[in-house]
Amino acid sequence: MTTARALVLEAPRQLAVRTFEVPDVGDDDAVLRVEACGLCGTDHEQFTGHLFPGYGFVPGHESVGVIETIGARAAERWNVRAGHRVAVEVFLSCRDCEACRAGAYQRCARHGLADMYGYVPAERAPGLWGGYAQYQYLAPDSLLCRVPASLDPVAATIFNPLGAGIRWGVTVPQTKPGDVVAVLGPGVRGLSVCAAAKHAGASFVMITGKGARDAQRLALARDFGADLAVDVDTADPVAELRAATGHLADVVVDVTAKAPAALGQAVQLARRAGTIVIAGTRASRDTPGFDPDLIVYKELRILGALGVDTAAYEAALALLETGRFPFAELPSRIVGFDGVAKLLADMAGEGDPPPVHGVVVPHEGS
Ligand SMILES: [Zn+2]
Ligand SMILES: [Zn+2]
Repeated sequence: MTTARALVLEAPRQLAVRTFEVPDVGDDDAVLRVEACGLCGTDHEQFTGHLFPGYGFVPGHESVGVIETIGARAAERWNVRAGHRVAVEVFLSCRDCEACRAGAYQRCARHGLADMYGYVPAERAPGLWGGYAQYQYLAPDSLLCRVPASLDPVAATIFNPLGAGIRWGVTVPQTKPGDVVAVLGPGVRGLSVCAAAKHAGASFVMITGKGARDAQRLALARDFGADLAVDVDTADPVAELRAATGHLADVVVDVTAKAPAALGQAVQLARRAGTIVIAGTRASRDTPGFDPDLIVYKELRILGALGVDTAAYEAALALLETGRFPFAELPSRIVGFDGVAKLLADMAGEGDPPPVHGVVVPHEGS
């Protein structure tokens, strides 16, 4: 019998290494040998207790790994075999309910938000429901994307933020060649939106950040497709965009976190009949500088975007494979189990400056 070590978040800030039995697979399921699991804001909010799932559970919802064992029907359904490297979608899909058949499997009637990887209680067998583990269970209704052979597993974890960049920056706002795109927030998702917009043919991409905290990320943005990077503490993004292009933005994408002023800036940056995608949450009802009348006068389309989908992940993996943007060189911190707590605290803003991208490598040091 094989066992797997995994990190269980037992309560806020309490990560413990536990050993689980790796299940035998049946016809319809599989086991993934986790090679790398990317981290995002959700991970540090789970860790600090800001986002409350039922503790304890194995976190990790951006897994990349190799299929260790797989049942015959699962192999056919997912079109993968043992030994294939895959990225795992956080949501499950029954492939049969109304939402799943319409392609909106995030609202699957059978699974929905209750069964997301990285959220399921460890007491539900076989317990290995997340990526902070040497092996992750792949339930029959999993959704997988093949990882191109040229990508190493850590680089492939960018499938998740870049998938978000493609969906939020291109698919949802229907960004077209020649568009002027403004991106608010220079985290890995903001940089991904820049790359996705440029790859879709945007003629000009501006990104904004705020203060010293964002200086390094703004400096990086040019390598990811940004033509202009603006620190909103020292410059007016509307004036900067007008000076550079003579226009306002066709598409504005807000991927800020906890930045109440971003909505007002987005509305000001959008041209008449422009499109704004809001994918960042403010954690506040205050919206300083927001003039709702501008929505009317400019006839703006303001769209919310939550989550990503496998089509965007596939597109992200294909874009990573081209090597057009230097995602492999993003300042990242790669940790084994013993480095996870410190990394999550740093990402939550409680310690050292966070890396642009954090990754857990579960077999490190074990
Ligand atoms: Zn995530
Ligand atoms: Zn369904």
